[in-house]
Amino acid sequence: MVAVRFASGVVGETRRQAHLASVPAPGATHEFWTTFCGMHIPVEVAEVSQGPDGMPCLPCLMHSAAGTGPAVEAGDSCG
Ligand SMILES: [Zn+2]
Repeated sequence: MVAVRFASGVVGETRRQAHLASVPAPGATHEFWTTFCGMHIPVEVAEVSQGPDGMPCLPCLMHSAAGTGPAVEAGDSCG
């Protein structure tokens, strides 16, 4: 899991919350970060860090705390 937010200048500072997203599977086509709160952030405008940076996104934190993870999880099921 990584923290993803819009790069500086892409959106207003008030919208630059740190969202949480799962790291994509190796080799998977990866054009957007799908955040836990359901946003799609294009990789070319995303700023990624290993920990929360700046103002956290509350819906993302709630999903993380509840252990539910993102709404869309690709091919990681074992049954
Ligand atoms: Zn979020």
